[in-house]
Amino acid sequence: MKTGIPLEEAQTTLLELVRPVKECHVSLAEAVGRLLSQDIRTAINLPPFDKSPLDGYALQAGDTETASSENPAILQVIEEVRAGFVPEKQVTPGTAIKVMTGAPLPAGADVIIKFEDVARTGNQLKVMYPLQAGSNIIRAGEDVRQGELIAAKGTVLTPPLVGLLAGIGVAAVPVFSKAKVAILSTGDEVIDPSEKLRPGKIYNSNLHSLGACCSQLGAAPVMMGVVPDEQAAIVEHISRALALSDLVITTGGVSVGDYDIVPAALKQIGAEIIFWKVDMKPGSPIIAAQYNNKLIIGLSGNPAAAFITFDLIVAPLIKRMLGFESGLPPKISAILKDNFNKSSQQRRFLRAKVEIINNIRYAKLTGEQSNGVLKSMIDCNILIDVPAGNGPLVAGQEVSAVVIGRQ
Ligand code: AMP
Ligand code: MG
Repeated sequence: MKTGIPLEEAQTTLLELVRPVKECHVSLAEAVGRLLSQDIRTAINLPPFDKSPLDGYALQAGDTETASSENPAILQVIEEVRAGFVPEKQVTPGTAIKVMTGAPLPAGADVIIKFEDVARTGNQLKVMYPLQAGSNIIRAGEDVRQGELIAAKGTVLTPPLVGLLAGIGVAAVPVFSKAKVAILSTGDEVIDPSEKLRPGKIYNSNLHSLGACCSQLGAAPVMMGVVPDEQAAIVEHISRALALSDLVITTGGVSVGDYDIVPAALKQIGAEIIFWKVDMKPGSPIIAAQYNNKLIIGLSGNPAAAFITFDLIVAPLIKRMLGFESGLPPKISAILKDNFNKSSQQRRFLRAKVEIINNIRYAKLTGEQSNGVLKSMIDCNILIDVPAGNGPLVAGQEVSAVVIGRQ
């Protein structure tokens, strides 16, 4: 078992141990936000046939070569075609077929003229100017051509892509399955928000914040509730969580206090401990273990520590399980807007929000930075990465940060 490893080593070690979970098919209505598990090529042209972009008449341009208001081309209207129907007749010299918007171009016709531009008496049509062959026709395959790659495996399904898949007749979309992530909180003091607050107890925020993170990432959280600080109970609950999910997250009980018994419970289960403790603040006591090819990640119970280690270490794993190529959060640099008066013996992540003013990127601290403070996570969309051994930070200096998004 490794201990006190750098964040990057923790991230890459764990990323190598996860794969996208299974594939499934979902309906178009459920597809947005999911990731394609296969390349999609279109089996048809879109539109599938040459068609009319307007209400008008389909005819042969050759008939109008010498047309003028004094000497109009005179044509016989032989049929009328609505959208959704096919013409029965062909356009031949001297004839025209009335077509509605979306109706197929009749065979023999090479141009369409709109209603407003002709004069009609009975079945006789007058065209007052010469028409150019090919105008006012939407060609088959104008949008996408048969055999064309529409979207590659791993593409996120956005609303236009969902529409295009519908347009080419894909009703069941192949996507990566939602990874099931079990979340289990430990702590004798932790109670559910639905209960009456009692002396010495606190409400369980971690279960719900991390469950919400999983949902937002596109995974399926499996809410396992709270378990007291008793090894047998933790063993039983983690075992149950393993059976119900693809990945297990626990919170609390991973430090070195008398009741921090998650590591002992993991050993009792027979899980292989991959590492315990990462060189970062907050959240250093994180533990990672593997049992039957499933990962179990134990996070600190401090709400902000749990959140930040989730964002930096767990979220990339979930993204990989959901089919994303690289789940690691991008890095940026920014100008710090505030002072931060503490020195950082250990590498430290500070909660901040990125703001762009006059094309310059600033990082504004979002409030109190201690382990247990959740409020400063609300506006946080970047984590300022302060190297170990750094003194206080001053407004105006350049800092590097990890983008966690969410806002
Ligand atoms: P632990 O990691 O178990 O030592 O807990 C660290 C701190 O986080 C303690 O003050 C706990 O009371 C608090 N805590 C632990 N679990 C939760 C939770 N699920 N929700 C909110 N606070 C928690
Ligand atoms: Mg505890």
